[in-house]
Amino acid sequence: MNTKDMYLKLGISSAVYDYCEKVLKDLKERFDRIDEVAEYNQCKVISAMQKNRVNATHFNPSTGYGYNDFGRDTLEKVYADCFGTEAALVRPQITCGTHALSLALSANLLPGDELLYPAGGPYDTLEEVIGIRDSVGSLKEYGVSYRQVDLKNDGTFDYDGIKKAINDKTKIVAIQRSKGYQTRPSFSVDEIGKLISFVKEIKPDVICMVDNCYGEFVELNEPSNVGADMTVGSLIKNPGGGLAPIGGYIVGRKDLIDRCAYRLTAPGLGAEVGANLGLLTSFYQGLFLAPDVVSGALKGAVFAANIYEKLGFKVVPSGSESRHDIIQAVELGSAERMVAFCGGIQAAAPVDSYVTPEPWAMPGYDSEVIMAAGAFVQGSSIELSADGPIRPPYAVYFQGGLTWHHAKLGIMMSLEKLYEQKLVTIDEGSIKK
Ligand SMILES: *Cc1c(COP(=O)(O)O)cnc(C)c1O
Repeated sequence: MNTKDMYLKLGISSAVYDYCEKVLKDLKERFDRIDEVAEYNQCKVISAMQKNRVNATHFNPSTGYGYNDFGRDTLEKVYADCFGTEAALVRPQITCGTHALSLALSANLLPGDELLYPAGGPYDTLEEVIGIRDSVGSLKEYGVSYRQVDLKNDGTFDYDGIKKAINDKTKIVAIQRSKGYQTRPSFSVDEIGKLISFVKEIKPDVICMVDNCYGEFVELNEPSNVGADMTVGSLIKNPGGGLAPIGGYIVGRKDLIDRCAYRLTAPGLGAEVGANLGLLTSFYQGLFLAPDVVSGALKGAVFAANIYEKLGFKVVPSGSESRHDIIQAVELGSAERMVAFCGGIQAAAPVDSYVTPEPWAMPGYDSEVIMAAGAFVQGSSIELSADGPIRPPYAVYFQGGLTWHHAKLGIMMSLEKLYEQKLVTIDEGSIKK
């Protein structure tokens, strides 16, 4: 059996296979560039592990208070070195990305302080953390005010608006690297660096925080290398490498990270407590694999962009644009196509491949949402997954893939489902909308 036969056996038709292979032929240079970034970042991770003399005793489980947990403390030094920061907090007790961001904010904002988002609003779940949508325990309840400056119509930073918005109360300026469910492009690390410099010129002591979710290891640098005082993310996305079963991280200035630790546990205790519960091998090994896993997810995103762009669908980013995160949006134009696309991603999964994703009314959204995920870790979006709200422009957000070849199969299967249901048609060896 050759490789094509294997794909046929998995349910891909010959026409879809041939079309996809044809598209793939032109992506070699893009993939080479992605590999170069992964190679650099792999060296960065190994160098941080070697510098901190990682050894087998660091994988030992700890329980209870977790005093003298050298494995945990060393992992945090490894993260700090990877991101070029003074300190890091990397814990299974940080339950997800939203928790990590909420922790970083609530630890460093006091009553009377103001939080500014200078480049558009935050990710959906942060709206309740901040109190943009009223919520129990929000920053707003604690007397922290919020201000936001939207991007200009052309998608660039509104520097005049930002200058006007910064005032005596402004304590944290928060920038979200990835677009999330918004339609703006994701910001490059360079762009983030420029914005931070601008803000610090106006108010040097302001704290700049970056929501780095989905951005880790996509570029050579991280926001922490261009002036971010706190950089925050989830371990069930990029830096966990698919192996971390839970967790979040905050890297940055030591005084700020200390406050995060005191807020996470208790004043007086801080980072000294917090058992690792036997998860450290997956944290270390996941970080070690992360640059390569991210490169596979990026290849999948570039492949998907080109497959669907050539069929005439709008894709964000476009097939040729540079990448600043692992998210790929595809505007499919109809609910039927969204369901078919997600059905394909699900059918290609190693876990739960036999279930059919259906749109459902998810709490917090004003339209039904469809999600496809066949993951080893629940909700892990570094694993191949796709989701989107069922409303115009009927865009699916596609991300992840622990290996490039799995991401490739997922994309091919998404197209297969569209093709089988005649939601796209093949015309002389190419497929047209
Ligand atoms: C995923 C994500 C979050 C929230 O992370 P969870 O782990 O889902 O809580 C926050 N910001 C951005 C940009 C994200 O992509």
